Amino acid sequence: MRIAVIPGDGIGKEVMDSALAVLGELDLGLEFEFYEAGDEALKKYGKALPDETLEACKKSDAVLFGAAGETAADVIVRLRQELETYANVRPARAIRGVKCLYPGLDIVIVRENTECLYKGWEFQSDGSAFTIRLITERASERIARFAFELARREGRKKVTALHKANVMKKTCRIFRDACRRVAKEYGEIAFNEYYIDAACMYLVMDPFRFDVIVTTNMFGDIVSDLAAGLVGGLGIAPSANIGEKVSIFEPVHGAAFDIAGKGIANPTAMILTSAMMLRHLGFIDEAKKVEMAVEETIANGKTTPDLGGKLKTIEFTREVIRTLKELK
Ligand code: ATP
Repeated sequence: MRIAVIPGDGIGKEVMDSALAVLGELDLGLEFEFYEAGDEALKKYGKALPDETLEACKKSDAVLFGAAGETAADVIVRLRQELETYANVRPARAIRGVKCLYPGLDIVIVRENTECLYKGWEFQSDGSAFTIRLITERASERIARFAFELARREGRKKVTALHKANVMKKTCRIFRDACRRVAKEYGEIAFNEYYIDAACMYLVMDPFRFDVIVTTNMFGDIVSDLAAGLVGGLGIAPSANIGEKVSIFEPVHGAAFDIAGKGIANPTAMILTSAMMLRHLGFIDEAKKVEMAVEETIANGKTTPDLGGKLKTIEFTREVIRTLKELK
């Protein structure tokens, strides 16, 4: 299988090195091909997402993506749309040993990935600017069905739709009504809804009332960072962009320029992201082993500074690899 690897900008490169070092320990016959995209690619080639990179991604079996900085909209948002990876799956799961607000929390955010304000249809004239928020029945039903199927597959009990249909009476109602329709097909899974603002309060005060969250693109982006904060931060939050053909695997975090080059980025999010890729490609046992190795390492108190530890990115990665070898 061919994996298109895009390390990208900032800490993207550092955490990608770690994930590839971990994957390199598994004998899976994966071929990694490296491509450029991001702020540096823009400077070098005049294009943040060079044609060669886009074509290679389309022909690959999966894309492993690090981070893009200022050019994120032209790179990762465009890639998601070009490859029609319509479902952005962002688990927020507390890892044993991580000091966080809600130990034991385990929720999954399913974010619609192709529409909403992320369409990029923005216009400007004489001191004003406006944007078009596209929400369709087709994409809303598709993402709702994806969320319910995920719940069924993972034995989860409830799907919660987040919207603001009392204010955005056309767009959010299309999304809300699609969720309500699809919910009727899944009698064994509970369904409820919250307005996005109230949901943020509940997420902070009582997140255990959530199991699977399904929402539109912009709201999904915001609540997934919020949810990551409940379980220990962006350093441990993985994500997958799932489509019918090629899927893209990227951590929730971005380029984090404030810590780039210091060797202290937490590679956990990227390593767990690569485990999501393994699972998607059918390497279930290997994915579980990678997840266990990360959890064991952290549970043994070996962590990077964002989690209160002292290890550098490379030292933490070595510990994960050592634990992985013991698990084999
Ligand atoms: P984007 O919108 O591109 O996703 P963002 O605005 O969410 O980016 P990030 O760069 O992802 O911002 O991260 C915000 C902050 O979280 C960083 O500045 C950094 O301090 C911290 N952070 C993010 N990822 C990590 C990581 N892997 N390890 C340690 N700290 C991180």
